Amino acid sequence: MLNIGCHLSTSKGFKHMGEEALSLGANTFQFFTRNPRGSKAKKMDEKDASALMALVQEHQFAPLLGHAPYTLNACASDPHIREFAHMVIKDDLANMEYLPNNLYTFHPGNHVGQGVETGIELIGQLLNQALRPEQTTLVLLEIMSGKGSEVGTSFEEINQILQRVNLIEKMGVCLDTCHIYSAGYDIVNDLDGVLTQFDEIVGLDKLKAIHLNDSLNPHGSRKDRHAKIGQGTIGMEAITNIINHPRLRHLPFYLETPNELPGYAEEIKLLKAAFHG
Ligand code: FE
Ligand code: FE
Ligand code: ZN
Repeated sequence: MLNIGCHLSTSKGFKHMGEEALSLGANTFQFFTRNPRGSKAKKMDEKDASALMALVQEHQFAPLLGHAPYTLNACASDPHIREFAHMVIKDDLANMEYLPNNLYTFHPGNHVGQGVETGIELIGQLLNQALRPEQTTLVLLEIMSGKGSEVGTSFEEINQILQRVNLIEKMGVCLDTCHIYSAGYDIVNDLDGVLTQFDEIVGLDKLKAIHLNDSLNPHGSRKDRHAKIGQGTIGMEAITNIINHPRLRHLPFYLETPNELPGYAEEIKLLKAAFHG
């Protein structure tokens, strides 16, 4: 069975997202833990969270994926911005425990002129401050496209961050197909080679989620613009190979394509039809 979902809006609450996912033919979804550009998290509605957990159990969903806000920068040069990032991650992880045993992904950050090495060091430090042995949430590093001074744009950088984390069993990786194609990994012509590389550098056991997006920009462009499935430079054939690949097919796939709900429903249908049961 293909584990597939898309990004949904939290505005009507947790249980509503679960019902929406079902109506789209999905068995999981991604959501922002708070306003993607803002800072304030809504107070956790515990009843709503447990209603979602009941629905998820009943319908045997794949893990849900919480996404940290884009504004979070774990490796900013300004210590106040880093302290804010620490607070956001800590808060988000506390909230995620109301939705136990799920996933939380974040963009590693922008080193803003301090250099990748310093960036990696700061991200590692922040994770060591924020992770708790008792947490049930896995924290995922999202691989980035390499625009600006982004950190975490290669398998090596992702591995170097992971190497610094003490509670490594709480960590994983989220692979965004648009981002890695833009970052220079040729998943169209050499998917096997890219996955072998990932396995040697990071370890495929660390790969916990795939953001399934087509890309508006060519391979190696270091730009981050998502396209609808089959309508970008990655294309339907490569995407079909990705969802069916023996080393990936068991993973949950989350669409972050430029769509409203009917568009997501169509893409989910298309991908289910392309999946070899
Ligand atoms: Fe992301
Ligand atoms: Fe993504
Ligand atoms: Zn992106």
